[in-house]
Amino acid sequence: MTTALGIDIGGSGIKGARVDVGSGDLVSRRVKYKTPEGGYPEDIMGVVATIVDDLGAKREETIGVTVPGVIHHGRTLLAANLAQEWTDLPAQELFSQTLGRKTHLVNDADAAGLAEVTFGAAQGVSGLVMVITLGTGIGSALLYDGVLIPNSELGHLELEGTDAEHRASTAAREREGLTFEQWGGRLTHYFSHLEKIFSPELFVIGGGVSKQSSEFFPHVTVRTPMVPAALLNNAGIVGAALFAHERETHSPSHF
Ligand code: BGC
Repeated sequence: MTTALGIDIGGSGIKGARVDVGSGDLVSRRVKYKTPEGGYPEDIMGVVATIVDDLGAKREETIGVTVPGVIHHGRTLLAANLAQEWTDLPAQELFSQTLGRKTHLVNDADAAGLAEVTFGAAQGVSGLVMVITLGTGIGSALLYDGVLIPNSELGHLELEGTDAEHRASTAAREREGLTFEQWGGRLTHYFSHLEKIFSPELFVIGGGVSKQSSEFFPHVTVRTPMVPAALLNNAGIVGAALFAHERETHSPSHF
């Protein structure tokens, strides 16, 4: 069995586990801490180091970490829902120093996309699949014939004069006290826009709220088939581990 550690940094929690990269199963307990107030890089890296310790990681063990922001050549260019200090930060190098070993960073939605296409709801689907995560922000992963096109950032498309995630994320629904029906109207607007631009084969919806898909899917009217993510809360952890394993072994993701 080949394993890697996957750690998922979110707006409210940071969680990690050891993953069997051949099956996508978690093979350790799942450790979770609250995201430190303010979302500053040093604090978050400290929590990630604690999780690595808690999981008893060996020196040579492969580690993947998700970040809710753009990652380009090891730098975080933007992380809209964390501290400003993440902007243009050499985060991959800093994580590697903090953890004392090479650490691979991947955008959180891209990690979820990799997990879903390898083990979940997008497995075996040809053409373009869009994995959209609804949470504090809106994350997106584009997969074409199972190959990830990273950093698509479609939560920042303009919708009704503002960033789509400000209108249609789970955080926006909670902030404004929207019913699922009202929120569904906003999501219809958002997904129709994506559909018009990309003509995907399938939308896979991730984020914690995907558990409640039966409550809001009926209010989202789009032509493209829409399914909830299969890995639910573990997609980020599994995707981070997979991504890191692929980087170490140079085997790109595809089915
Ligand atoms: C960030 C994305 C991230 C998404 C979900 C957005 O605000 O820009 O990088 O994937 O939130 O966390």
